[in-house]
Amino acid sequence: MEESIKILVWKYALQNAYRYGGKAQSKAVIGKVLAEKPELRAVAKELANIIQQIVDEVNRMSLEEQRKLLEDSFPELLVEKEVEPVVKTLPPLPNVDKYSKVVTRYAPNPDFVLHFGQARAIYLSHDYARMYNGIFILRFEDTDPKNKKPVLEYYDAIREDIEWLGCKWDKEYIQSLRLPIYYEYARKLIEAGAAYTCTCNPETFKKLVSAGKPCPCRGLTVEENLEKWDKMLEHFYGEGEAVLRVKTDLQHKNVSVREWVAFRIIDTSREPHPIVGDKYILWPTYHFANGLDDHLMDVTHIIRGKEFLSTLDRHLYLYKHFGWKYPEAIHYGRWLLPRGGAMSKSKTLKAIKAGLFKGFDDPRLPTLAALRRRGVQPEAIRQMILEVGIKQSEVSLSWDNLYAYNRRIVEPKAKRLFFVHNPVKLLVYGLSKQYEANIRFHPSKPEMGFRMLKVKVENSTASLFICSEDAKLLKDRGMVRLMELFNVKLVMSSENLLEAMFHSETYEEARRLNMPLIHWLPVDQCVKAKVVMSDATELEGVVENNCTIVKVGDVVQFERFGFVKLDSKDGYWIFYYTHK
Ligand code: GLU
Repeated sequence: MEESIKILVWKYALQNAYRYGGKAQSKAVIGKVLAEKPELRAVAKELANIIQQIVDEVNRMSLEEQRKLLEDSFPELLVEKEVEPVVKTLPPLPNVDKYSKVVTRYAPNPDFVLHFGQARAIYLSHDYARMYNGIFILRFEDTDPKNKKPVLEYYDAIREDIEWLGCKWDKEYIQSLRLPIYYEYARKLIEAGAAYTCTCNPETFKKLVSAGKPCPCRGLTVEENLEKWDKMLEHFYGEGEAVLRVKTDLQHKNVSVREWVAFRIIDTSREPHPIVGDKYILWPTYHFANGLDDHLMDVTHIIRGKEFLSTLDRHLYLYKHFGWKYPEAIHYGRWLLPRGGAMSKSKTLKAIKAGLFKGFDDPRLPTLAALRRRGVQPEAIRQMILEVGIKQSEVSLSWDNLYAYNRRIVEPKAKRLFFVHNPVKLLVYGLSKQYEANIRFHPSKPEMGFRMLKVKVENSTASLFICSEDAKLLKDRGMVRLMELFNVKLVMSSENLLEAMFHSETYEEARRLNMPLIHWLPVDQCVKAKVVMSDATELEGVVENNCTIVKVGDVVQFERFGFVKLDSKDGYWIFYYTHK
């Protein structure tokens, strides 16, 4: 039987034994092996014999020995607490029958690029629209050129992120291009006596409203208000001198909801808007523009996080004044993710400017751009979001959850390659012929083809690279098996060079003598490579030259290392680490 099959049996026998207190069950191992290589059914008898032999051998080892072997040869099987991902579907939306068409929207402020947490509102809004043959709107909420300053390049970055997620929007709006519409509705509100211009000093206003008392401006007549509103439009007031307020209950339990601001003046000669420059100085607040647009754009279902619940109260006043019905609103609970599920925009931006991060796609950041660069597949993000759904309660998540989904997507497609980091030279003596290893690009997918590593033998000697950690292993244990090649015994070692003798060829011999399995590369068959790890540190090494068939953007698995994505290959091959 092929070595790769024996390795597979060893792998599952060890895993099964280690999981169940040190004793593997042949049946379980047969099941695993056949699931991965159904073609072996044809030689079931032979396979069963081999499995029995290997299981017996594994069962004779101590749990510690089993762990050690797993760690050395199949570290990927020791991934912490692997969660078995479940792919879920969304529960139905409420009151769909009341509407002729479901309309949802995603409404980002282009003052930053998107981060992982925002994918939740995007996927839910998009997928629900698709589920009901509805419409999904992308709306840029960019009406605060002062405190939440939109940046031109982020509009495109956001579009790119949403496209990458695989969500196509049916309509797009940019609020800064809709100011005349907002002015028109402001006038209607004033005419209805539901909004008033206010020129009170903000401190005085705050004191009054906190005490549940109206400010003097609240009593202005409609005519007086219209006159002042026109003056606001005509640049009569400067920044901070006048606002338009919406009338609310003066006793509203949330003081910040009382008499909320619908428009304020922003001096765009000093703070120009990236799209409309200094054309306007009178800007609607997020509360006004967002609330109004949901109605004007016929949004039927709003899906957003619970943190927007307090803005809902403001919107409800607007809808009451206009006599409109508020859309169905779903506010999902927070999710807690270690390391920046939510991130501070301003702090991150500062850190990028200071050079502490490489950019928005620095692997330490939880931005979509970073996850994309690292090889996380959008479908994994979607599946994780569907798992959590629209739950109201808080959920704790870990990045490992996401990686488990991702691994399931990339594992069947990823080509296997040898990458030797921190390479150390190993000379093997005593070789009487040329060797070559033909290894599958994927252990259970022969259709993906083979890769060949030719070992040039000159004067009975081969020159190889092995990882510095494996060099340590060889020093500690004295013997190792070079995967798919032969077994060697150490004879000499110095800091940068190991010298070993050919010991034997077969895998059985390596197992009998308990040799760890390590990977290797012929010194003349590799190219220089670098892996950017998730903490942004860089690992230098060499990758087998069979990597020339890998395209930029592909995710591959470096054996005994983890999944990586090819980022660029201009001279140096640069990969980004995805996960174990
Ligand atoms: N512009 C808001 C945001 O940045 C939209 C909130 C909502 O969905 O209503 O998230």
